[in-house]
Amino acid sequence: MILIVDDNENNIYSLKKLLESKNFLVDTANSGEEALGKALKNDYALIILDVQMPGMDGFEVAEIFAGYSKTKDIPIIFLSAVNTEKRFITKGYASGGKDYVTKPVDPEILLLKVKTFYNLQEQNLEMKKTQESLKLEVKGRRESQVSMKSKIDHFHLLLEGLPQIAFTLNEEGIVDFVNGRWYQYSTSEQVFPETYQDDLDIKAEFEACRKKGKALELETRIKNIESGDYRYHLLRISPVYDGVAIKNWVGTFTDIDDQKKVENEKDEFLSIASHELKTPLTSIKAYVQLLDRKLKLDKNSAEAGYVTKVQDQIEKLNSLIGDLLDVSKIENGKLKINKKPSNLEKVIENAIETIIQTHDEDKVKIKRHGQKPDILIPFDEIRIEQVLINFLTNAIKYSPENNQVIVTTFVDEEGVKVSVTDFGIGIPEFKQKAVFQKFYRVEESSLQFQGMGIGLYICSEIIKQHRGTIGLSSIPNEGSTFYFTLPLN
Ligand code: ADP
Repeated sequence: MILIVDDNENNIYSLKKLLESKNFLVDTANSGEEALGKALKNDYALIILDVQMPGMDGFEVAEIFAGYSKTKDIPIIFLSAVNTEKRFITKGYASGGKDYVTKPVDPEILLLKVKTFYNLQEQNLEMKKTQESLKLEVKGRRESQVSMKSKIDHFHLLLEGLPQIAFTLNEEGIVDFVNGRWYQYSTSEQVFPETYQDDLDIKAEFEACRKKGKALELETRIKNIESGDYRYHLLRISPVYDGVAIKNWVGTFTDIDDQKKVENEKDEFLSIASHELKTPLTSIKAYVQLLDRKLKLDKNSAEAGYVTKVQDQIEKLNSLIGDLLDVSKIENGKLKINKKPSNLEKVIENAIETIIQTHDEDKVKIKRHGQKPDILIPFDEIRIEQVLINFLTNAIKYSPENNQVIVTTFVDEEGVKVSVTDFGIGIPEFKQKAVFQKFYRVEESSLQFQGMGIGLYICSEIIKQHRGTIGLSSIPNEGSTFYFTLPLN
């Protein structure tokens, strides 16, 4: 908007008309005082100021405008009918004005000057606005930097308080923070703790995970600088996301050495105990068979019944000890698999036959579904039969109200899938993965049903060694389906 300041109404009227005809917005004031009041309230791009006014003259008004920050940068064009002398013009410029036009006003000249000043002032205002918004942005960035720094400091303080070794890595995988405990195992922030010669290389393992954008979890032995001992640690490095992109990584080493020692002692005890139990049990089994043959008991007599019961119990004990021995073999990496081309259908039939013979016939109904895998593929017959018997025994054991079991087989160009479905108690979803862990039993069923929680652990190891997959789907109180797959080659 342009402000015209003149004590003469006629002058104001003709100037106003002239400017409005060129689409300028115009405001007017009759005196210097009124102009000052308006200029302090409104934003003007240009002031056209009459020099000769009663009271304050134009130069005085311009000087006062120059003293206020709001008005000091507004360009002024002085209008005067009389003072064309050089000294007056100089005064006009000195008092802060930008140009000088004499009366009678040449409309074309005035309009040219107005347009130039108006545009200049518009650009100035635009630049000021940009400057302001830049200032605000810089301020905002500075503030968010400060708040980010205080968040990071807080996070580092938390990591410092952890009982574990803790560290962070940037998105390129370079360590950029370590807590105090790090230095018990490394001399420098840049170097990962030294691992035991047989263990995996931390840097290489992490690089592989980082490229896939996946977390790393690893049990490894790292060297304590002071004692020189290698202690078992659980290393975890997890990505921290900023939206969908990985911002950085947070890692911890948790000392599990004592836990590992206790576990090893327990494994050692299990291994010794199962081996020691096996020998007398084999003798008991042989002597009972001998006794049975020597006594030649009438099959219907109570004594013959007792002998059968003793033999059943010996078999149960034998299979329990067999399982314990398998666990210690797995721990020592000695569970051997003898793969040779075998017929899977025959193994399935054998397993079902064994189950039917060892269970009450009205307690078990086993149905077959799907295409029969009557083909030769490489696997260990004894171990795969062990897996099937385990699945079938569990299906019957954990279905006290329903005697139906379905064995489904499926063959395609990649492999064979065998599933065993029951309609029993089922397993809650969050416990399903854990059933393949050593000694894990679902709490709800462990009191009601006997077991040691190692059958499925052995099954998963057997299938793993065949490079197959193992898993389950289950709904509590509706039933479960356990499956395994074997590759054709
Ligand atoms: P065990 O049966 O000797 O306890 P397993 O390793 O065979 O040991 O099974 C582990 C646990 O998984 C069992 O204790 C049981 O809680 C659960 N489980 C296994 N099979 C089934 C099934 N078919 N239905 C429901 N729960 C099952």
